[in-house]
Amino acid sequence: MRLSQAQLKHLETCPRKFQHIYLERLNPPPTPEQWQHLSWGSRFHKLMQQRELGLPIASLAAVDPQMQSSINALEEAVPEIFSPHPPKETFRQAEHWRSCHFQGYMLTAVYDLLIADSNSARIFDWKTYPLSQKTRSLAREWQTRLYLFIMAETSDYPPEMISMTYWFVQSGGKAQSLTCSYDSAKHEETQRDLTRILKRFQGWLQAYEATGELFPQVPLSAANKCLECPFALRCQRLSASNSDTIQGWDTLTNLADIQEVCL
Ligand code: SF4
Repeated sequence: MRLSQAQLKHLETCPRKFQHIYLERLNPPPTPEQWQHLSWGSRFHKLMQQRELGLPIASLAAVDPQMQSSINALEEAVPEIFSPHPPKETFRQAEHWRSCHFQGYMLTAVYDLLIADSNSARIFDWKTYPLSQKTRSLAREWQTRLYLFIMAETSDYPPEMISMTYWFVQSGGKAQSLTCSYDSAKHEETQRDLTRILKRFQGWLQAYEATGELFPQVPLSAANKCLECPFALRCQRLSASNSDTIQGWDTLTNLADIQEVCL
């Protein structure tokens, strides 16, 4: 079974959400705002990949001024990435896919850009939102931990020679970065945490398949985390966490209260 950083994140934060999304395939559609942001981010990633392949992007970027200014800001901040003549003996690849087997699972990662030479292996990831205090905790997120772990497990680079840098391209016209270093202690810690999570996951999965036992939910004491979750009704967590929200849903589901819309 393949596991990505997103799946590990769900297994750690709410195993029931993992069950809904990956076992029951109940992924809810994004809101219009989320869709707009996802679509913009996807186009940005494709343009960066196209550029890395040596294909022209100027005309495509020019039709979207925000895209153009984000790419310009990134180029200004890190010209090395855009250099038409990278140093020889350097390996570069956009959308670089890697995987490693770990305790019966295949852990997978897709790096937006990998630059590797005899001194270092640098993983780059493009984030199409601003760097904020909240995003500074990215170093502890599973994306960072898994991406670094897989690089160390699948190459000859010692952990100390591997790093991961996030570039935030919508930070008020200026690209900003956050670099996460790696070392042997962090690698061992990730190995321990992966072992713990995968062992639990195996138990939940076996029980789910054998008897239909549901994966654990976040504890009721932390039910405020459910307020933003699209599965809150299914999990019967709205009433447990916020009575105001229940009123909102009750109102919404009362057809008589919905205003007529002229077409
Ligand atoms: S509503 Fe709460 S318990 Fe249910 S999937 Fe979402 S976060 Fe998990």
